[in-house]
Amino acid sequence: MDAATCVLAKFGEIALKGRNHRWFENTLIRNMRHAIGVRRVDIRRRGGFLIVSTPHLESAELTHRLRQVMGLTVVQPAVRVPFTADAAAEAAVGLLRDHPGPSPTFAVRVRRRGKSFPLTSDQLAAHIGARICREFGWTVDLRAPELAVVVEVDPTEIFVSVDRLPGQGGLPVGCTGRALVLLSGGYDSPVAAYRSMRRGLQCDYVHFTGAPYTDPASTYKAYALAYRLSRYQPRARLHIVPVGRGQKALATSGSGPMQTIAQRRLYLRVAQRLARRHDNQVLVTGDSLGQVASQTLANLAATDGACDLLVLRPLIGWDKQEIIAEARRIDTFDISALPDEDCCRLFTPPEVTTRAVPTELAEVEARADIDALVEDALAQAYSIVVNPGSAAADGLLQDAAQQRVHPL
Ligand code: ATP
Ligand code: MG
Repeated sequence: MDAATCVLAKFGEIALKGRNHRWFENTLIRNMRHAIGVRRVDIRRRGGFLIVSTPHLESAELTHRLRQVMGLTVVQPAVRVPFTADAAAEAAVGLLRDHPGPSPTFAVRVRRRGKSFPLTSDQLAAHIGARICREFGWTVDLRAPELAVVVEVDPTEIFVSVDRLPGQGGLPVGCTGRALVLLSGGYDSPVAAYRSMRRGLQCDYVHFTGAPYTDPASTYKAYALAYRLSRYQPRARLHIVPVGRGQKALATSGSGPMQTIAQRRLYLRVAQRLARRHDNQVLVTGDSLGQVASQTLANLAATDGACDLLVLRPLIGWDKQEIIAEARRIDTFDISALPDEDCCRLFTPPEVTTRAVPTELAEVEARADIDALVEDALAQAYSIVVNPGSAAADGLLQDAAQQRVHPL
């Protein structure tokens, strides 16, 4: 990346956050540095946007990395030029020279911050437009151009761009709190995690396995998903909790058609304990209302009865097709599609109730000694930090591979 190229990173909502503005911006900048991932990065603040440059990355790669940062609405590769109309026109021609395909219609859009530049916005746009016409013979179309040259005039320098790419939007990760996401191997929960991050929640994960009755495949998947999601936030903790024994105890205590809900309540109880221990203020699940029998209103209410922490369900109003499309967009689809042994299905009864009755659930839990099941699960739990390049990941995968699978 040469000295004149840079990327303009614009933020929307955080510009509105009043007195907290500075703190939001600092969080955003920290996350940007993490996403860029190289040592020498220059980030300069301007009202409403940031100017990013580094000698270590090509402009396209820097742009790509910044487009994964929550809180940025627009990511715009640019050329920084001296404060003259000719320099701006020259830069525009340079950027357009490699434009592929037939001649596009174009427009020049000028934004001025401050009044120090000698030409008005219209005059500068006309100057640059005339130069482009002379050079390439293209036609101006101000209403619906195929290509827009954006020229931003600051008090002392000018930025010229032709690409204005959408960022992730939302709020910077970390600025609204810390969540513990119940991460299964399916399509929904990684999307729920992503939507939570997008609202500023720093996410950790808990994954429940059917060990010792299932193989480690679901653990690998959970790790792969957490790793994939780490491109959107700096780092995360992943707890792996074997609950096979607990699930079996619930089944043999007569849970019958309530087994799935009884298991969910066990998950929430354990998740709540982990959340308290590690400073997560809220739990997140991938439930969507009415998607399956365990997600009826009555069953969700019965599930939540097991814990005091707030449980967020960002996908509550999403259709499965919308969730799958989002999973493809955020790149978790291919991992979720891998086969595994889902612990939820281990003891699935032939018929799942759509209306679990809290008093009956309480009786099953009393017979199964639920407090002891929670302690047993926590005693078997292990955690690792998911950080791209972390050696701890190898340790986890070895542990998982050594788990012995018992017959039911
Ligand atoms: P997903 O696609 O995320 O697995 P699903 O449609 O299969 O969701 P359920 O199996 O009913 O839905 O699970 C609902 C939610 O409960 C999940 O989105 C997840 O948040 C949580 N959950 C289910 N199974 C597990 C598990 N093994 N470990 C952690 N969380 C789980
Ligand atoms: Mg599932």
